[in-house]
Amino acid sequence: MSVIKVMSENLANKIAAGEVVEKCASVVKELVENAIDAKATIIKVNLIKGGLEEIKVIDNGVGMDENDAIMAFSRHATSKIYKDDDLFFIDTLGFRGEALPSIASVSEVYLETCQKDVGTKVHIKGGELLEKGLSSAVVGTKITITNLFYNTPARLKYLKSEATELANTTAFLEKLALDKPEITFTLTNNNTLIFKTSGSGNLLKAIHEIYGLNVSSKMIPIHALSDDFEITGFISKPEILKSSRNYLITFINERVVRNNDINRAINDAYYTYKPDGKYPIVVINIYTDPTLVDVNIHPTKQDVKISKINDLYNLLYQTIKDALYDSLLIPDAIPKEEADKIKNSFEPIAKFQNIDGEQTTFDFNTPSEPVKNEEFKSLVLHPVGVCLGTYIICDNEDGIYLIDQHAAQERVNYENYLANLKKEQVHITNLLIPITIELSQSDYQKFQIHHEVFDKMGFVWEEFGINTIIIKSHPFWLKTGYEEESIKKIIDLIINLEGNFDPIKFRENVAITLACKMAIKANDHISMLEIEGLLNNLMKCDNPYNCPHGRPTIIKFSVYDLEKMFKRAMN
Ligand code: ZN
Ligand code: ZN
Repeated sequence: MSVIKVMSENLANKIAAGEVVEKCASVVKELVENAIDAKATIIKVNLIKGGLEEIKVIDNGVGMDENDAIMAFSRHATSKIYKDDDLFFIDTLGFRGEALPSIASVSEVYLETCQKDVGTKVHIKGGELLEKGLSSAVVGTKITITNLFYNTPARLKYLKSEATELANTTAFLEKLALDKPEITFTLTNNNTLIFKTSGSGNLLKAIHEIYGLNVSSKMIPIHALSDDFEITGFISKPEILKSSRNYLITFINERVVRNNDINRAINDAYYTYKPDGKYPIVVINIYTDPTLVDVNIHPTKQDVKISKINDLYNLLYQTIKDALYDSLLIPDAIPKEEADKIKNSFEPIAKFQNIDGEQTTFDFNTPSEPVKNEEFKSLVLHPVGVCLGTYIICDNEDGIYLIDQHAAQERVNYENYLANLKKEQVHITNLLIPITIELSQSDYQKFQIHHEVFDKMGFVWEEFGINTIIIKSHPFWLKTGYEEESIKKIIDLIINLEGNFDPIKFRENVAITLACKMAIKANDHISMLEIEGLLNNLMKCDNPYNCPHGRPTIIKFSVYDLEKMFKRAMN
């Protein structure tokens, strides 16, 4: 019996047909999502010239009978969407079904499909059925698209280079493979393997198969539960950073989505763990009641609107922040992949290749136990000296440590300033000689708008002539000898406040700015006594591993790494 139903005219109008096909990746998306709907567990995507020449998708799903195979290409027939309400229900991957006829109308399609024991083949060009007949009986579907946009030159122009089309398809399939780790995905281009997942159902293993061991070994598992949301997945340690947001991969109810607030929660949680403009790799699933999610913004876009977004923001932010804090440890100077390479180079190769050609072994079920912060606090470091005027060298029985003196002191200062800024009760210091600060007309006006912020910090001041203020008292924690410089920095931050005032962000900004200003710089000489003081203070920090801009403060060469490098150890 046919599973394709004719959908209502009303719904058909909601979906502007051609809108869903704009590049090779959107054709792949349509075909692969059809395969998933057909309950395939193995999906192969073979491209020629990034899909410009040919897109072939082979699956082992349930296949179609003869009637479905023809109906699948007729407009307004779809097995996926039955009624209006379904459009708003996130359980469906959305909007497909309508795309297959529109793909067929602008390309040449060969379809071979088999349900149970009858195989059907169909050949369509420009939407016209050229041939239909029996085909060999291998359950599943093989669909080949060639000559994409051959009859719509205007569209053809918009196809990009092979490299760009391939990059788009790869990015899409990688996300899908992470979304569905239980499905085996294979992507090839010009008969060269791009990536393959094993369909193990294990997300961390899928991350390994797509991004490699260096990434997968540095992922932290997260889990959180609230009344409305459940979050599971993995986030990268701050050592693994990318230059784009493309690796912030989020699924809601197992559907790839994009949402600025979710990205903001992730980015804010990494605050001070990473530099601005760098992004971690994050793969998370958010489960929620589908009625809280509005997906119907645009058929090809993944943007969604979420009710109770503030609750989700807070849950995600706190979960990631806690997970990062719990996993803090000193980054190894030698990445694990490198260390393994060194290790492997001493071993007979055969020993490292099992049947699958896997080169490295990694236990996906027990992520390595991170060294807890408490352990850092008991770390004993013996300072040896300073090199390049910047790096403090220390050692202990585990290895050699390099500490960036500026970054380390910046961290110490930052936590001090932040602690003081958070205090409700402000102790103030009266200035014997008041400090006069002259501002430009516009800066003076901006300062006036937000002066309560300044007042609350413990500053006592008065107007003093045109665009000038005179400071009589300041909070006690300003560094002695640097009061004027500090005050100017703070006023600068107040002048630049915009939009909604966020006291937490403001405090952090003040702390970071002053921390950097007041820290010893590279090439500033520090004595052995000062080094010991600095190390002591660093140990006491909440996060001793990063400066507030997210740079590392300390890195380690383990004894093992050193012995490897000097070839003292052979395994
Ligand atoms: Zn700095
Ligand atoms: Zn810094």
